[in-house]
This record gives sequence, structure tokens and C-alpha cells, in this order.
Amino acid sequence: MTNKQTKLMIEDVDFYYGDFQALKDVSLEILVNKVTALIGPSGCGKSTFLRILNRMNDLIEGTKVDGKVLLDGQDIYDKKVDVVDLRKKVGMVFQDPNPFPKSIYDNVAYGPKAHGIKDKEELDRIVEDSLRKAALWDEVEDRLDQSAMGISGGQQQRLCIARALAVNPDVLLMDEPTSALDPIATAKIEDLIDNLKEDYTIVIVTHSMQQAARISDYTSFFLMGEMIEYGPTEKIFEKPENNKTEDYITGRFG
Ligand code: ADP
Repeated sequence: MTNKQTKLMIEDVDFYYGDFQALKDVSLEILVNKVTALIGPSGCGKSTFLRILNRMNDLIEGTKVDGKVLLDGQDIYDKKVDVVDLRKKVGMVFQDPNPFPKSIYDNVAYGPKAHGIKDKEELDRIVEDSLRKAALWDEVEDRLDQSAMGISGGQQQRLCIARALAVNPDVLLMDEPTSALDPIATAKIEDLIDNLKEDYTIVIVTHSMQQAARISDYTSFFLMGEMIEYGPTEKIFEKPENNKTEDYITGRFG
């Protein structure tokens, strides 16, 4: 299937923490129902870039963003945009699994409840559906009322994915979602990402080039706040156009 629809268009974005410029004139197109990986050495701006896409950086004082970020053609930095609504459409999963100290059920029902859904049957349906999509249902269906703190790290991360899915987002941002997990839990999340892209657009920061190569359709290489090269993952890893990309891919630095 050739589906080249744009979900997010990032145009000439500069980003500052106080006087420090962390992103320099970054432009990138994120395609619908694809996995886009952001790679590059530590500190090059990958997480900063990811947080620009749902305005999580707004929460950090003294920051400034210039340029445009369009979601389905709409500027997300426009004054009229409701940030709560934006973050519902553009969900996020973090490096360390961070479930709430609540039951498994309540973790997933939290978002829908916050958005006004009260009907128990509807909540039950959303919880089951989200846990199924996150490939966790079979492991927890008989202990939904138990604490989320009692399941394994890999299960907690899938629970955080279910929690993000429960408010019906279009885009999932993932910031090194497997770096705290063992290889088996990592493989499960990677399989899950592969399934999720049928329904969602996924942008993932990873420090693992092997992971980027395994799971992404497109890869974007960042270096010192600049987006150096972007393209189909195979091309970036096998035939990069920029020498800096090649040096990084072949392990000459990083
Ligand atoms: P990466 O995800 O590639 O490791 P980051 O986006 O976390 O990179 O960081 C990019 C640059 O911005 C780094 O120099 C980092 O020190 C700086 N930075 C990140 N977060 C903050 C912050 N909250 N305040 C000030 N500087 C920050």
C-alpha cells in the first residue's frame, strides 16, 4: 500500500532553552501510519524535538520555539489551540515506565474519565480495547483491580501505551521506550509498535541504531541540534548521502 499522507509537517523550527539553541532550523515531514525514528548522539536534540510535537516543552520555563509545526495542516502553536486537546491527539510514552500508583484498570480509565466519560460499560470497553491493542489484556484480564506497581517493567510500559491509546490519539510519541527494559520485554514492545502503526502514526527516539533499523520506516539523523538527513530507513542505513550520517551509522562517533 502506498500511503504518503502527511501527519505532521515541521517547518524551520528553532528551539531555545534560555540562551541555548537546542534545535536549529529543523524541517521534517512525518507520514501517516509510519514509524519514524529519530537517531543521533546523546544531547543532539532528539527528545527536545519530540516534545515540540505535543508542546510538552511549554512546561519548561524560559523556552522559546520559532517556526511551524502543522498537525493535519493546523499550526499547533496557534493561540487558539487547546493544548489538552492537542495532547489527546498526540500521546506520549516515556523512557521509564511511569504508571500511576492506582489499579491497572484505573490507569487506563484515567484519561477517558478526565475527558468526561462516566458510563461504566463504555469505560470497561475502552479499558479492554486499549489493553488488547497494547498486547497486555491476556496477561492482566483477571487482575484489573490490582496495583499497576505490581506488574513487571515490560508490562508497565505496555500499560503506559494502553493508557496513551485510551484517549484515542492519532500520533504516539515514544521517547526511548525500551531503554529501561530487558531484551524480551523490548522485543514485545517492538512487535507491538509494528502492529500499532496500522492505526497510528509513531515517532520514536532511540539510542539504538539496531532498533531504528528493525522497527522504523523512516529515519531522521540529528547532530548538535541540526537535522542532518532524513529518508527511508533502509537508505539512511545502507546508502546515506551525508558523510556525517555515514560516520555515525558506521560507528565512527556517537
Ligand atoms: P537528546 O534527546 O538527543 O539526548 P535533548 O533534546 O535531551 O537531546 O537535549 C538537547 C540539548 O538541550 C542538550 O544540550 C541538553 O543539555 C539541552 N537540554 C535538554 N533539556 C533541557 C532543559 N530542560 N533545560 C536546558 N537545557 C536542556
